[in-house]
Amino acid sequence: MHLFILDAIKLMPWLVSIISLMKPGYKNVKNNKKLIVPFAEWIKDRNLYVVDRFLNATCSVAYGGAVYSAFEDISMIYPLKIGILDLKTRPTTYFHGNLSQINEGYQEVWNVISKKHNIIFKSNITNISRDQNKIVIKHSGDETSEYDYLIIACNLTGMLEILDTTEEEEEIFSKVKHVGSWKAVFIAKDLPTDAGYVFLDQLESPDVKPALSGFIPEGQVGDGKYLYTTVLGLTTEDGFEEVIKNSNELLEEHFNASEIEWVDNTYWPEYHSHFESKEIKNGIFDKFELMQGKNNTFYVGEILSGISNGLSMDYSFDLVDRFFV
Ligand SMILES: Cc1cc2nc3c(=O)[nH]c(=O)nc-3n(C[C@H](O)[C@H](O)[C@H](O)COP(=O)(O)OP(=O)(O)OC[C@H]3O[C@@H](n4cnc5c(N)ncnc54)[C@H](O)[C@@H]3O)c2cc1C
Repeated sequence: MHLFILDAIKLMPWLVSIISLMKPGYKNVKNNKKLIVPFAEWIKDRNLYVVDRFLNATCSVAYGGAVYSAFEDISMIYPLKIGILDLKTRPTTYFHGNLSQINEGYQEVWNVISKKHNIIFKSNITNISRDQNKIVIKHSGDETSEYDYLIIACNLTGMLEILDTTEEEEEIFSKVKHVGSWKAVFIAKDLPTDAGYVFLDQLESPDVKPALSGFIPEGQVGDGKYLYTTVLGLTTEDGFEEVIKNSNELLEEHFNASEIEWVDNTYWPEYHSHFESKEIKNGIFDKFELMQGKNNTFYVGEILSGISNGLSMDYSFDLVDRFFV
């Protein structure tokens, strides 16, 4: 216990720099130089006695959980930002200050917004050009619409193909990195149902066979069976079958799980969007912020805000306050 207290004392001075991350986005984060290193390196450099393993696991899980080295260059600022979301009192604009289950994801938000605004659903944007302060959007075949302002709220790698990017935009957009991720759902008998479980071994060693990185019990589906969601310890599109085989072995060996049935899965190649630590140190967020408003264009979304719906919305509210009120 006393070693835990010594670790807490070592971490205490960092609280001040961590608190500065509570503001929306990463404006001025480059001043926080000692936090802009990969999180495993940051934790190692603290020379902690007992909480280092716990901190590593928490950062990995906060960031989605994956396999050894998948998060080799994920700066400490990223998992901290996600962790901070849980400490923050949300503005009342954010679902009355509560973190609520949103069954349809952003669709529910758009359903509400579309009652007052002109929203075009189910339309794929294929080209965006900005001429003389006029934004021309081509979508759904050859249809075009014109606007005064453009707010880009999606993956920037895709934007490189459809937007008439400036040199500045191209430089920043091309530096966005991703770590692919698999989300899967399975049903099983005889697995724990009391809590979410995380397997640390594969996060810590390259010698451990990749398998599911943990599981969350979602609800009983009858006959002693439970439905579980999980993130697989796999970052590429290939290798799914092997990871499922390893996962079954792990669940059977450690929990005596039976009747495991994998019911659904999806691969997200563009998960965990981030900038490399060296880019953050070089002030990429400041350069990005300086672009806000140029060519009547604004940028929101997880690359600027941090991952999660809550952080993305906080950043969007802040952008409205800064430029549109
Ligand atoms: C598997 C998974 C699980 C997650 N779990 C959680 C969670 O539990 N809680 C949480 O808070 N966050 C979670 N996240 C993270 C969260 O979903 C993202 O951080 C958040 O959605 C990012 O918001 P965004 O506005 O940047 O982009 P997005 O939500 O990705 O929105 C971009 C939108 O732009 C659209 N788009 C892109 N290109 C075009 C085009 N050419 N034409 C028309 N439309 C286009 C896309 O279809 C998409 O709807 C999860 C993410 C994933 C992938």
